[in-house]
Amino acid sequence: MSQKKRILTGDTPTGKLHLGHYVGSIETRLALQDDYDCYFLIANKHAFTTRADKPDQIRQSVIEIATDWLAVGIDPTKSTMFIQSEVPAIDELTFFLAMLIPFNRVMRNPTLNAEIRDKGLGDNYPFGFPMYAVGQCADILAFRPELVPVGEDQIPHLELTREVARRFDQMYCNVDPHTKDEDFVKSGGLFPIIQPKLGRVKRLVGTGAPSAETGQLLKMSKSLNNAIFLADDADTVQKKVMSMYTDPKRLKATDPGTVENNPLWIFHEIFNPDQNWVQENEDLYRQGKVGDVAMKRKLVEVLNTLIEPIRTRRKQFEARPDDVIDVLREGTKRANAVAEETLYLAKKAMKQDYFPRKLTIG
Ligand code: ATP
Ligand code: MG
Repeated sequence: MSQKKRILTGDTPTGKLHLGHYVGSIETRLALQDDYDCYFLIANKHAFTTRADKPDQIRQSVIEIATDWLAVGIDPTKSTMFIQSEVPAIDELTFFLAMLIPFNRVMRNPTLNAEIRDKGLGDNYPFGFPMYAVGQCADILAFRPELVPVGEDQIPHLELTREVARRFDQMYCNVDPHTKDEDFVKSGGLFPIIQPKLGRVKRLVGTGAPSAETGQLLKMSKSLNNAIFLADDADTVQKKVMSMYTDPKRLKATDPGTVENNPLWIFHEIFNPDQNWVQENEDLYRQGKVGDVAMKRKLVEVLNTLIEPIRTRRKQFEARPDDVIDVLREGTKRANAVAEETLYLAKKAMKQDYFPRKLTIG
C-alpha cells in the first residue's frame, strides 16, 4: 500500500455536485491528489437518512456524483473513489464507536440541528438521522487519514470524530490523555486525531432568499433547491442566475444598493477572475448606477466559463456509464483493503479479534 499520507472525504448522493462543493472541497481535492493517497467516498447510506423512500434516485445519484468527480478532474489512477455501503467494515466500526459517544453529545451537534431546521424535518426524522453523525466518524476513521477536506458545515462532525478517536486511543490503546493531538499515533494510538481542511470558500451561499427563521442566507445545498450544478447547461445557469435573490430593498433613495450579504456580489467576489471590475461595479451598485440585470448577465458569463470545460468532460463520461461503474468497483476494492485492516486493528485493540476473515467484493 502507498506510503503517502491519506486524505478522506466524500459527498452524499442526494443530487449532483454544485458550485458550493467546487469551492468548498473539490478544489482542495484536485490540488492534493498528487501528494496524498486520496479516498473519496459516496455516502449513499447517509442519503437514506432523508430519502429512504427513493432508492432509485439514490442509485442514480451515486453514478451522477462519480461522473461529476471524473468531470472535474479527479483521476481514478491517483485517487480511490468508492461506495460507502459496499465497505462493511465502516458499519462494524460505527457500532463500536457509537459506544464511545454520549447520545446527548450527538444531539447537540449544531450541523445536525441546522439540517433538521433547514430541511424541514421537524420531529419526523428517523433514528438513522442522528446516527449518520456517528457513521461519519467511522467513514473517516476507517481510513486513518491525516486530512479531511470539507466545507464549514462539516466542522462539528469532524470535532466529534476527533473526540471519539481520542477516546478510543485512550481506552483501548493506552494513550496517555495528556498526549498532544499530533502525537496520538506515535504514542501507540490506532486512530490519528484528524485535521479538517477548509476550502477557499468555507460556506458558499445558495441562490435563494435568507431563511425565514434565522434571517441568514442559506448554504448552497443539493437538498434546498438553491444550487447551481456543475452539470447545468448554459441556459439553466442563465435562468438560475437571472432569478437569483439580490437586494430586495435596492433603488430606494436611502438604500440604492447593498453589496453585503447579497448573493450576486458574493458570487462575483468568489468566481469572477477580474476583481478590479468587481470592485468598480460594487461601488457603482452602491450608488444605484448599475442594475441587477447587467450584473447578473456578467455573472452568467463568468459561471459558464468556469463550468463549460467540466460540462464537456462530463458528457464524455455520461456516454460511458459502464466505465464509471468500473472505476467505483476498483476503488471500492482498494477502500475495502484499507478499511478491513483498520477494523482488524480496532478489534484487536478491543480484544474482539476472534477469527481471521477475508472479504471478497466485486
Ligand atoms: P445535502 O443538501 O444533501 O446535505 P450538500 O449540498 O450539503 O447536500 P454534501 O454531500 O452534504 O452536500 O456535502 C459534501 C461536501 O461539500 C462537504 O464537505 C460539505 O461541507 C461541502 N459543501 C456542501 N455544500 C457546501 C457549500 N455551500 N459551501 C462549501 N462547502 C460545501
Ligand atoms: Mg450536506
